[in-house]
Amino acid sequence: MSTRYQNYIAGKWVDSVSGETAENRNPANWDEVVGIFPRSGKEDVNAAVRSAKEAFDEWRLTPAPARGDIIRRAGDIMTARKEEISKNMTREMGKILDETRGDVQEGIDTAYYAGTEGRRLFGHTVPSELANKFNMSLRRPIGVAGIITPWNFPMAIPTWKIFPALVCGNTVVFKPASDTPLTATTFVEILLEAGVPPKAVNLVHGGGDSVGVPLVNHEEVKLISFTGSTAVGKAISRSAGDTLKRVSLELGGKNAQIVMDDADQDLALEGALWGAFGTTGQRCTATSRVILHSKIHDQFVDMLVSRAAKLRLGDGLNPETEVGPMVNQYQVETVQRYVGVGREEGATLALGGNQYKEGDCAKGWFHEPTIFTDVTPEMRIAKEEVFGPMLSVLRVDGFEEAVRVLNNTKYGLSSSIYTADVSRAFQAMRDIDAGITYINGPTIGAEAHMPFGGVKETGNGHREGGWEVYEFYTETKTIFVDYSGHLQRAQIDNY
Ligand code: NAD
Repeated sequence: MSTRYQNYIAGKWVDSVSGETAENRNPANWDEVVGIFPRSGKEDVNAAVRSAKEAFDEWRLTPAPARGDIIRRAGDIMTARKEEISKNMTREMGKILDETRGDVQEGIDTAYYAGTEGRRLFGHTVPSELANKFNMSLRRPIGVAGIITPWNFPMAIPTWKIFPALVCGNTVVFKPASDTPLTATTFVEILLEAGVPPKAVNLVHGGGDSVGVPLVNHEEVKLISFTGSTAVGKAISRSAGDTLKRVSLELGGKNAQIVMDDADQDLALEGALWGAFGTTGQRCTATSRVILHSKIHDQFVDMLVSRAAKLRLGDGLNPETEVGPMVNQYQVETVQRYVGVGREEGATLALGGNQYKEGDCAKGWFHEPTIFTDVTPEMRIAKEEVFGPMLSVLRVDGFEEAVRVLNNTKYGLSSSIYTADVSRAFQAMRDIDAGITYINGPTIGAEAHMPFGGVKETGNGHREGGWEVYEFYTETKTIFVDYSGHLQRAQIDNY
């Protein structure tokens, strides 16, 4: 019998109002049901928002350092449960165990950073232009935060959002991706065990239309933090305008790694393989293009194709596996569609191109690592996000052309250049249109204490991670204290 899980609303574990449920299956073996989860709707969202609103006063009046201590305890609990959570996450969404351990570790790092932020949340004191007057700014929580997350980092991304939201004194309604409800359930259990007041965090399982849309439209939800596709991010941005919500959007990417002729080719090869095929290419920061200097192009392609051909596909729980399954049938079909696009556009299929069903992979959503060469900058496979194990190789004749080709996409999340030339590295930092640039490292590998996010259609200017995310979850109040004992008029009395 499969375990049945529930929503967490108003301090209780409850079924959805409709009583409807959905199965969550292991993408490496679809015979295995990971659990049965509620399919919720607007009434469940309304109840969750009511609960979060009721809890707001108590939570905002809890001293920020005490809120931080609770989040630090959440980090301790995650540390103790790291192995169990990682294994369940691999069963739920497929990526290999080393990577799910990394996903949990990112959550732990985020907890410990957030814990200390409870002792900062700085405002400013600033001299007044008038005598006997004191000026300062302080940071206030905003209210109910709606948190909507994707499935590819089922622990790290919710922690990036929910820990800072809570430390800043907001309460939360969390709508996780419907492919990763178990990790989300575990995360909420941990928050409660750590001491977050029961009504301050609420979990509503279900789909984007049935749960995400009413959450975004709800008048009492004062901010939305969303990570997912650019199409959905734009829709959220449009509807959030009606209630003037604050919205943070972390969206798609089409990340590229440039390899110059002076680069350490072996190092660049390791970076390209990890960047393109780690997490089966299902990272917003995945390397989706390599841009090769023509002098090293042929040799690099030979090395790349022969190494990628040897990657071992399989269940992420098997320590031999290097590339796990894709998360679901839809993702496999998307990659297959782009294989067709690449062929029609005249690129050369140098490796892979097929769904993979051999041996132990017969009952899972596997796809061969796929490489297209002879890709030109205007092809769709050079510009559109695929979100799977597919890499496009482009050839350039110099640095300026490489940067131009890299920038030739509507996205701007992560980027990388391998070069031994310091001047070129600095020019790349300046001229690449992306939120993140790695020098001599792959496009993937965020760190919890650094800002994370992109430019152009990758987002709307906010950042997750590090110190910047705390700006999103607070509003500034400006305070003037006049102790002169008489009316003082700014801009008038002194001029
Ligand atoms: P998605 O946009 O389909 O779904 C993301 C979340 O939004 C899910 O919880 C989904 O149920 C919900 N949702 C769907 N429609 C909605 C709607 N109309 N209103 C409100 N919520 C809605 O994305 P996905 O397939 O889960 O994730 C893959 C995408 O996420 C890729 O484009 C990837 O690049 C992006 N991503 C970006 C980052 C980043 O930080 N920039 C990180 C990870 C993933």
